[in-house]
Amino acid sequence: MPVTRPVFRCDCGGFIDVELTGLFDPQQLPQRGMSIWRYREAYSLPPQCEPVSLGEGRTPLLKLNINGSAVQLKLDSLQPSASFKDRGASVLVSLVKGLAIQSLVEDSSGNAGAAMSAYAAAAGLNCRIYVPDYTPVGKLIQMRLYGSEVVRVAGTRQEAAEASVAASHNSYYASHLWNPYFILGLQSCAFELWEQLAQRPPHTVVVPLGSGGNLEGIHLGFTRLKQAGLIDHTPRLIGAQAAACAPVHRAFEAGSTDVAPMRAEPTVAEGIAVAQPPRAAAVLAALRNSGGRTIVVDDKEILAAARLLFEHGVFAEATSAAAVAAWLRLDRTDREEAVVVITGHGLKGADKLGRLFPDPYNNV
Ligand SMILES: *Cc1c(COP(=O)(O)O)cnc(C)c1O
Repeated sequence: MPVTRPVFRCDCGGFIDVELTGLFDPQQLPQRGMSIWRYREAYSLPPQCEPVSLGEGRTPLLKLNINGSAVQLKLDSLQPSASFKDRGASVLVSLVKGLAIQSLVEDSSGNAGAAMSAYAAAAGLNCRIYVPDYTPVGKLIQMRLYGSEVVRVAGTRQEAAEASVAASHNSYYASHLWNPYFILGLQSCAFELWEQLAQRPPHTVVVPLGSGGNLEGIHLGFTRLKQAGLIDHTPRLIGAQAAACAPVHRAFEAGSTDVAPMRAEPTVAEGIAVAQPPRAAAVLAALRNSGGRTIVVDDKEILAAARLLFEHGVFAEATSAAAVAAWLRLDRTDREEAVVVITGHGLKGADKLGRLFPDPYNNV
């Protein structure tokens, strides 16, 4: 169905499926700019939508050697608001602006709210973000200084989501969890990897997995490259979940097609502690279609992986380090063939990292 009305889900309660109108023309890429908008046809936006861009995308693919294995890190921590969510926010806010909507609401535990706030500022739109209690202060400040109204909701992530749905009858619920255009923007990571690897797909891609939107978007991007005959196989996708909250892992291992809701226990990787991922069925299908799997990692492993990143000069969030912890669990040959996506920058939560890695000399 073409999107002409400001709806975030189907009247039946399910997801809106966007009719995909075609991929970009690879012949044209050499003449295009360096943001995610070089692939703009792949997002199937209505024709009146113009890009709202802050120069997102084209993040480096860094070759490192960690613990004796070669690896390539896709540094999505180096996006305009410092997480991969800018890929989705840029496309979703372009839709909202193109539909002449003035105000949007979103619920987020951090990076999605920061990304939506940045793009709402760029587009001149009003933005209100409902955040759960435990949202890290750096991300709250980021949202506020981009000009969003930040509303704290006592309780869980789920309660923050319900508050924003309730508020959305007088503004658009631009949900990174529900809105298909957010996922369509996340395809751009796959397109970039394909270009950066001389138009070949990587063997394996490892991501931290919360709601699974990133994994779903990357899988969709590679699937469409394959359908267009530009690659002959899609990469195996591996989703890292935190032991404290692993509903997708549990469903994957049980062979289920959807998740059973569970309680999230506290974890250092709060960005992937999603107890009820709404798109779980699609995420499980993407994992299985890609020949991939989930890997569950505990806080100790996540912090050890974070320390390895710091020692190599890469400053990432603990949530992002979960993917490196999962990568360390792979067999040696698989490890050598993998791309690990570094989803968010460590500076956003430097105070938290300082507490997790206390200074033995008490200087800083
Ligand atoms: C949102 C987020 C994730 C989880 O991504 P999903 O699309 O929810 O699976 C991982 N890392 C960081 C830094 C995030 O902000």
